[in-house]
Amino acid sequence: SRAYNFSAGPAALPESVLRQVQEEMLEWQGERASVMEVSHRGKAFVECAAAAERDLRELMAIPDDYHVLFLQGGATTLAALLPMNLAGADATADYVLTGHWGEKALDNARPLLRTNIAASGKAGGYVDIPPVGEWQLTPGAAFVHYTPNETIHGIEFRDIPDVGDVPLVADVSSNFMSAPIDVSRFGVLYGGAQKNLGPSGLAIAIVRKDLLGRHGRALPPIFELQNQAKNDSMFNTPPTFAWYVLGLVLKWAREQGGTAAIGERNRRKAELLYSAIDGSGGYYRNAVAPAARSWMNVPFFLPDAALDKPFLQEAEAAGLLGLKGHRAVGGMRASIYNAMPEAGVQALVDFMADFARRHG
Ligand code: PLP
Repeated sequence: SRAYNFSAGPAALPESVLRQVQEEMLEWQGERASVMEVSHRGKAFVECAAAAERDLRELMAIPDDYHVLFLQGGATTLAALLPMNLAGADATADYVLTGHWGEKALDNARPLLRTNIAASGKAGGYVDIPPVGEWQLTPGAAFVHYTPNETIHGIEFRDIPDVGDVPLVADVSSNFMSAPIDVSRFGVLYGGAQKNLGPSGLAIAIVRKDLLGRHGRALPPIFELQNQAKNDSMFNTPPTFAWYVLGLVLKWAREQGGTAAIGERNRRKAELLYSAIDGSGGYYRNAVAPAARSWMNVPFFLPDAALDKPFLQEAEAAGLLGLKGHRAVGGMRASIYNAMPEAGVQALVDFMADFARRHG
């Protein structure tokens, strides 16, 4: 039987979505074939793709002056494609580092343009967000890149930083559509789908239209995002199965009451888990500054690393999967994305209390 899955990604999907996929696996939309077996240029898939875009635009209130691109290659590929597409090699981009994925994005930008680390929480071990007022931003920068939710370190911005007129580029892989967000404050929002939106293999970029096509570089046509924008993300074969599942996840999100209701539920889930950690009399510990604690990824430590193995074994036996922390941080990590029901977090919290009693 299915367990509560706290994996950081690929991550749990809504059960109703998986059931619909199962039902439609052999025959989809009267096509006498599955969605994976039909042309991306055929009527059925084009309609499915357009419906997903419409639903995403509606759920996230994406303004008309933004493209929504559905791409292969994951968030990491976009971390390289975006600098290529947003600026020339002489431009400078600012990077704000609040964890592992910000560092990786910077690594992918470095060969492409000038980069400046405007702020970094690394020296402190990535447990807090450097105050925005202290960021050393470059006047006239092409963009400022940051990671609103750092999946491994469990750090999340609650507010969108004000960087003036410079376009903000945000890797929202692990908090995509997790709460309402003002898209118009961003130049680009991008991320992999495999946490909040669907299976891996699909990356989504929401890009302000005027930012594309100004870089002046000689790019291979396939790396030119403008070409995907002009071709409804079908310049080459898109990840059709993942795009189809995305569409089902978005329908589910609408049934949940949209991003406002989802955000409220995510807040309640995070509060439940953090208060269990903070209220454990020091047995469990989360190292992140309270104001920067993620609603999506909750790393925590047991009093002794020797307890990690029994914790994971007993958790699995209790139907709680994927709780091992990332090796860069250690300990445990519970990822509680949109599809994790409140009952799953309650089951985890109950298990943690019981474990602490027995191994205290
Ligand atoms: N950015 C963030 C915030 C992530 O959490 C991840 C994956 O966990 C990535 C980027 C990398 O994504 P991908 O594997 O799709 O390239």
